Amino acid sequence: MEGRAIERATTVVIGAGHAGLAASRFLGDRSIDHVVLERGEVANSWRRERWDSLRLLTPNWLSRLPGHRYEGPDPDGYMTMGEVVEFIERFALASRAPVRTGTNVTSVRRAGDEYHVTTNRGEIRCRAVVIATGACNRPAAPPFRDAIPGSVEQFTPFDYHGPAGLPDGGVLVVGASATGVQLAAELQRSGRPVTLCVGEHVRLPRTYRGRDVLWWMHTSGVWDQRYDQIDDLTRARRLPSPQLVGASEASERRTLDLNALAAMGVGLVGRWAAVRDGRALFSGGLRNVFSLADLKMERLLDTFDAWARGDGRDAEVDGPERFAPTRVPESNRLQLDLRSGEIRAIVWATGFRPDYGWLDVPVVDAKGRLHHEGGVVLDSPGLYALGLPVLRRRKSTFVHGIEDDAREVVDHLARHLAGRR
Ligand SMILES: Cc1cc2nc3c(=O)[nH]c(=O)nc-3n(C[C@H](O)[C@H](O)[C@H](O)COP(=O)(O)OP(=O)(O)OC[C@H]3O[C@@H](n4cnc5c(N)ncnc54)[C@H](O)[C@@H]3O)c2cc1C
Repeated sequence: MEGRAIERATTVVIGAGHAGLAASRFLGDRSIDHVVLERGEVANSWRRERWDSLRLLTPNWLSRLPGHRYEGPDPDGYMTMGEVVEFIERFALASRAPVRTGTNVTSVRRAGDEYHVTTNRGEIRCRAVVIATGACNRPAAPPFRDAIPGSVEQFTPFDYHGPAGLPDGGVLVVGASATGVQLAAELQRSGRPVTLCVGEHVRLPRTYRGRDVLWWMHTSGVWDQRYDQIDDLTRARRLPSPQLVGASEASERRTLDLNALAAMGVGLVGRWAAVRDGRALFSGGLRNVFSLADLKMERLLDTFDAWARGDGRDAEVDGPERFAPTRVPESNRLQLDLRSGEIRAIVWATGFRPDYGWLDVPVVDAKGRLHHEGGVVLDSPGLYALGLPVLRRRKSTFVHGIEDDAREVVDHLARHLAGRR
């Protein structure tokens, strides 16, 4: 870096996923000079950090970004990773986003009322920074993973590409949210006996009253609920992803809840609590965990029904449905000997975390969470974030959720710049 000129820009956006590109679109609309710095390529996480068979769990008609939407022949289908990358690349091109690929941000420091952004290609000084580096930079796994016998191979969703990469034999999938249920189903179908560790989860049917359940989330306004109207925001931000899976076409779509997995032969055990003497110990509260998820699903369906009645939509959809409670397995396994050979691989589907290792501004708490109020970083004027869970609305981390958030965050940013002029 020595000897390189220091560049200036009004705003630096970090990350060229859909969130950074949406910010860029609104900055461009306001003629705010900016650059988008991306360590890899546009849509990098969809290219490098997802498994091969993954499809979006959100239907194509819901894939929309500012001024850009799915226009293909299958609005009710679900995109493959290649299609998502293409969709985001087309958006970047159409928006003429000033993206600099291969530019890794290694530090952001505050100096007076500007920011110094250091990258592998030099330094940029700017008046505002938008952090759009994603909420899922690192797979999370419990610390006791270090106590697991070396004979058992361990995988995260970042190094899992498909069943062929795993040894033959039993697999323990840990976590029953979207990733965990999808990988458990794929591995069970590959002929491996799968056991799934189930903690708190969000159960949803794929379709409800003849419509994709995400149509209900979207149209009824549940997803639009704002962060400042949610009673327990901390909890809402920690909510796991729903048990949903995409499909190659709408006619193939199916519910992938625990009853569906059990019917495929997947064994269900409770939350993994500890490893002792080479044994995995599971908590015994499956019945409670199941009832809670069933109850929450019922309540959500009640909300949908009430909305349909109140909004005069009943005639547009089929009649109300209710679903069988999650069946508690007959044998309640509380431990599993990891040295016995029954389990050859573990897949940690225990969530993801953002990575702010490069952020040299004291705005991240001990748990690694950025301190912000609807994307406006507290205590550091000119610093913003996008793409975090329930940032400004329940839909914030979904592709279609970014438009409203990015517009409002860029509005704030523009006011910040104007205020300082
Ligand atoms: C497994 C999985 C499935 C999902 N499925 C869906 C779905 O079906 N539908 C849906 O709407 N959403 C889905 N999401 C949620 C969400 O849409 C994605 O996580 C999406 O990638 C988030 O977009 P983003 O722009 O916020 O972050 P990202 O797409 O992660 O983009 C962040 C970018 O920042 C770059 N970056 C990070 N650090 C730096 C740095 N220091 N310097 C420079 N660049 C950096 C990264 O390379 C990356 O390109 C899914 C998420 C996951 C993990």
